[in-house]
Amino acid sequence: MSKVIIIGSGFGGLSCGYILQKNGYDVTILEQGMQIGGCLQCFFRNGVKFETGMHFIGSAAKGQTMHRMMNFLGLTNVRLSALDPQGYDTIALAGEHFRFPNGREAFIEQMSGYFPKEQDNLRRYMDLVNRIASASTLNSLTSAERDLAANTEYQTRSINQVLEEYFHDEMLRNVLVGNLPLYAAEWDKTPFSQHAFIMDFYNQSAFRIVGGSDAIAHSLTNSIHEMGGQVLTGKKICHISCNNTQAIGVETADECFLPADYVISTVHPARLLEMLDTRLIRPAFRNRLAGISNTVGCFSLYVKFRENAMPYMNTNYYGYRTSKPWNCERYSRNEWPKGFLYMHMCHEDGARYARSGVVLSYMNMEDVAKWKETTVGHRGSDYEDFKRCCAERLIEEVEKHHPGFASAIECYNTSTPLTYLNYTGTEDGSMYGVAKDISSGPAGRVPYRTKIPNLLLAGQNVNSHGMMGVLVGTIVTCSELISAKKLQEQIEAKDN
Ligand SMILES: Cc1cc2nc3c(=O)[nH]c(=O)nc-3n(C[C@H](O)[C@H](O)[C@H](O)COP(=O)(O)OP(=O)(O)OC[C@H]3O[C@@H](n4cnc5c(N)ncnc54)[C@H](O)[C@@H]3O)c2cc1C
Repeated sequence: MSKVIIIGSGFGGLSCGYILQKNGYDVTILEQGMQIGGCLQCFFRNGVKFETGMHFIGSAAKGQTMHRMMNFLGLTNVRLSALDPQGYDTIALAGEHFRFPNGREAFIEQMSGYFPKEQDNLRRYMDLVNRIASASTLNSLTSAERDLAANTEYQTRSINQVLEEYFHDEMLRNVLVGNLPLYAAEWDKTPFSQHAFIMDFYNQSAFRIVGGSDAIAHSLTNSIHEMGGQVLTGKKICHISCNNTQAIGVETADECFLPADYVISTVHPARLLEMLDTRLIRPAFRNRLAGISNTVGCFSLYVKFRENAMPYMNTNYYGYRTSKPWNCERYSRNEWPKGFLYMHMCHEDGARYARSGVVLSYMNMEDVAKWKETTVGHRGSDYEDFKRCCAERLIEEVEKHHPGFASAIECYNTSTPLTYLNYTGTEDGSMYGVAKDISSGPAGRVPYRTKIPNLLLAGQNVNSHGMMGVLVGTIVTCSELISAKKLQEQIEAKDN
């Protein structure tokens, strides 16, 4: 039985671990933190639960790709609650509200209602979105034909460039990128393909996870344990040991050596490089990985509502100060926050009132860099003052969109990019790891394979972030050890 060590217990590590253990590998997942799950983690404060990095998922209705993949991963016990199909996302631009409904035709109809002159263009746009999304790896596991050229072309064209080509109305172009915090898109930089995947993913269907995203982590971990694999917490990997040709195992911070036939790293490339001192990794590769830029980080406001004070909001709300969602990652201190994403957590399906919610707003690491050498809980009173000030400004901003928000708050907690850096190791506390950039081409991508033949990479940095993006990476990485055909058969077997 080949021994596989997986570094990191986020969705990337756990999904790889599940598939490999099920296919006869002896898997051990090592997690630096005391909790499993990475961004799937939840936490309790003042008796309520909060999600930290997975608030809703798409294409999870029966027969859709995520639903099939969740069956494949044994996640049938994870309960989902549908967001409002007439408006799973609400975009608020300059005082106007625009709702994104599920379904291609409903979406075209709704948007045409707002922008009647653009109806034909909306149709062409949705055709393009569907064409690009169907070219993804997961769809290649189905029998559908893939338009690989579409995929390649739209990885090199920016979102704004393509939208300008499709639509005359600037406001419509802005509305269509209103949910860009979901992929931290940047003007002239983020490829249109990224926009198309997210648009398609949630247009199909959108769900919150009842009781919190950690249900996914717990389910995968239990299954891995039941199949004989291990998921160990408090095990920080410091070093990947190699001989002259390949990796032979890993060393943990508590000085254990664990031998391995294969090592899969699901951590940020900056963390991976710190673990590798072998000459098998060339300086050019190191420099390339070290030079890739990251998506922006975020400030999170975790709100506990007073009992029965806040009706459950079955939509995700994206609020902006102006009519433009772009460039919110570029702000002066006085301008912050230029935009926010406000969501409620689904504690139980059908609940009338929300117990907790989160408000996210972009924040760059440089805002908190002076506390980088401090540790969680010991960053000092000036850090607490900074966070309080940010929280108050964010509450003020949300209150403008949702009168009564401030008075419904019983108490709140906050986090900054430093928190994410500490808990997940993601460089700069970035929301989604490495950024996609049309100008950098293949050099800007993190590969699945390395010059160390038995070291593979997975997780959000190799393909894309999010439940679907990470899963695509997992499938490709696992296909290095199990054939894609076999994986396809296993997915199809679970469909029946
Ligand atoms: C605020 C926020 C909101 C989001 N919302 C959504 C959403 O609604 N829907 C969605 O689909 N996606 C969402 N995402 C994205 C999604 O959560 C991530 O893309 C995905 O969970 C990343 O999984 P991963 O396994 O690649 O990385 P991670 O979850 O970061 O896991 C990496 C793990 O590796 C561990 N690790 C790091 N270094 C070491 C080491 N040296 N030794 C051992 N372990 C180590 C870390 O502790 C961590 O547990 C959100 C992300 C953020 C930040």
